[in-house]
Formats: sequence, structure tokens, C-alpha cells
Amino acid sequence: MTPLPKRKIIGVQVHHSQDLSNASAYGANMLTALEAAISKSDKQELKDLYSMLARYSKQISEHQRKAQTQMRTLSLVHPETFKQCVDGRIPWPDETEEGFEARCTCNDQCAIHDLGKDQEDFWICTCGECPQHVKSK
Ligand SMILES: [Zn+2]
Ligand SMILES: [Zn+2]
Repeated sequence: MTPLPKRKIIGVQVHHSQDLSNASAYGANMLTALEAAISKSDKQELKDLYSMLARYSKQISEHQRKAQTQMRTLSLVHPETFKQCVDGRIPWPDETEEGFEARCTCNDQCAIHDLGKDQEDFWICTCGECPQHVKSK
């Protein structure tokens, strides 16, 4: 008999401030690489590209900070809503609702059945609770 596949850690619905954070980091990498190219070739076109990209990078960082602040504010002001967003049950309030699908939690760990927590505590079984693939218990 093959053992059941080990379920992953509890997943999260990533907020777009994280995507912007990635964009910001990639922008910084691009600037560093361009700097290196400029130091070797000293072309004016590259210098122009560099200043253009530096402006865009700054704008992306500003958007990232704004989005992150909104997310942190939500976690402080509406912790319940924040938890549902992190769990992927509802869309983030500052993101597009259109086409939203609740996150599949089939691979999420259950506190009781995967982590062996005591049912007597406040833990609840989350097996078969996937909003996309609801099964009857
Ligand atoms: Zn599922
Ligand atoms: Zn369970």
C-alpha cells in the first residue's frame, strides 16, 4: 500500500503587495546590471534607459509601500477579514473581485489529522473543507 502523500504546510493567498515587492526587487537587479553595462560601454542610450528605469522603480516601490500599508491596516482593524483573505476564502478588499476563486485547501494540513493536535483543544478538523472541492464528512 502506498502511503498517503504528505500534505503541505497551510497555504496562503498572496497579496499583490508581494508581487509589487518582487517587481521592485527585479527592478533593482535590472538597475545594477545596467550600471555594470554602462561602466563598460558608456553609451548615452544606456544612461537614458537607466534614468527611465530608476524612475519606474521608484514608482513601483511607492505602490508597494501603499499596498503593504493597506494590508497591514486591514490586519489591525479587521483581523477576522484579514484571516479570511490570507486563507484565500475571500478576495483581498483592495484587489479585483472579478474572477475570484476561493483557494483550494485540499493540500492544507489539518491540525488534528496531520499535526496530531488534540481535538479537545480549540482545534477543528479542516479535512474536506476546501471551498472548491467540498466533500461531505
Ligand atoms: Zn481543493
Ligand atoms: Zn482533519
